[in-house]
Amino acid sequence: MRIHIFKSRRKGLTRLVVGGLHGREGRTVKLILKRFILEGGPRSGMLIVVPSLCDEAKYVSTLSKRYFETEEGRKLLNLLSHYKPDVYVEVHCYSKKAFRSLTSPMRMVRKGVPQLIELERGVLIGSSSPLLLSTGLFRLGVTVEVPCRNGESRDVLLRLLRIVRDREAISEVLGELMKLYPKQLSEAIKLFEMYKQRLGLS
Ligand SMILES: [Zn+2]
Repeated sequence: MRIHIFKSRRKGLTRLVVGGLHGREGRTVKLILKRFILEGGPRSGMLIVVPSLCDEAKYVSTLSKRYFETEEGRKLLNLLSHYKPDVYVEVHCYSKKAFRSLTSPMRMVRKGVPQLIELERGVLIGSSSPLLLSTGLFRLGVTVEVPCRNGESRDVLLRLLRIVRDREAISEVLGELMKLYPKQLSEAIKLFEMYKQRLGLS
């Protein structure tokens, strides 16, 4: 696991971006995150990027408690407890056939979490997993899923990551996303608020 740390002299948000959380998705995701790293760091605060938590591991869902018993899961918890980021973004990739189940409103019934919302070109966003949310180790947690095979989605992900890097407050990150994707973001926030209530988190 490689960690890239950018630290600005100016105080500001701490942002943690982690790719490739399980299985083999790291192989794909790290290519995009490495490109993002080449663009440099933020003007204020910190940016920590882990392009791939693992390149090849058994696939254990991050929604399962068992994930946090795997090596990758433990590394992730260590990163979060160490940096306590203001903004935490995890980047996964999905195969074409998983699109429907990730975005289906039935996901709540089937997996106990809300469906992900498509921003554009197959890039999906949603909240961090309930197990991570309950740790209270970050302020804003976003899960992003990009298609494992779709070059076009790369630019959408890069644009999203640049917003996280360049905005200087959480409200600005959300504001900028809202400007670009008003419908999608309102829907994602609505689902998250409903879900938080269900979990009893305020
Ligand atoms: Zn994944």
